[in-house]
Amino acid sequence: MTVRIICDFDGTIAEQDMITSIMRAFVPTESAPLIAAVQAGELSVRKGVEQMFALIPAEKYPQVVAFAQAHTVVRAGFEAFIHRCSELGWPVTVVSGGFDFFVEPVIQQLSTPVDVYCNQIEHNGSHLAVRWAVDCDAACEGGCGLCKPSVMRQLQAGGTKFVVIGDGVTDFKAAQAADYVFARASLLDLVRRRQMPASSFETFYDVIQVIDDGGSELYAHIS
Ligand SMILES: [Zn+2]
Repeated sequence: MTVRIICDFDGTIAEQDMITSIMRAFVPTESAPLIAAVQAGELSVRKGVEQMFALIPAEKYPQVVAFAQAHTVVRAGFEAFIHRCSELGWPVTVVSGGFDFFVEPVIQQLSTPVDVYCNQIEHNGSHLAVRWAVDCDAACEGGCGLCKPSVMRQLQAGGTKFVVIGDGVTDFKAAQAADYVFARASLLDLVRRRQMPASSFETFYDVIQVIDDGGSELYAHIS
């Protein structure tokens, strides 16, 4: 039996949602209705994020990259958490709806190698365009952007137990496919309302505490 951790980036490893931060910094007025429509579930994540980046002229790409790298704050305990999972032999896969230019610098600083799924931005046209890394498979209802449950199905090997860590609506489909969830913010409300097996967290030290407690509810769901 293998335990595999699927960990979100924006709002989870990073304290803020970088896509929202980029939009508020570069195209605040034009992006506001799109952000609201995605959060309200009226517009798919895929279409919403594509329309948001299409608002930004391609020549701004270097400034967008510099802004994102300067404003990424990593949540406390992340490196210790990666180290603990490595000791336990639990592979961690970072599955992000965000972009390589702010996800990879954080992951590359770790002393332990971690697999990453994230998207890229094309900046050869007049405006920025999103290149999604993983499309929704036939088992997903669609609209995800980077489809986290599709990644989990690709990683599924006989008997794999999945632990999902996340913070928002875009993690909910992955959480539903998981054996156990660590949740904060709006994902916590969603999983609590459905009484899914979950712990809340604010820092990764909270997650380590649950992992280190052999009597915790986590082990009832992954053993
Ligand atoms: Zn999907």
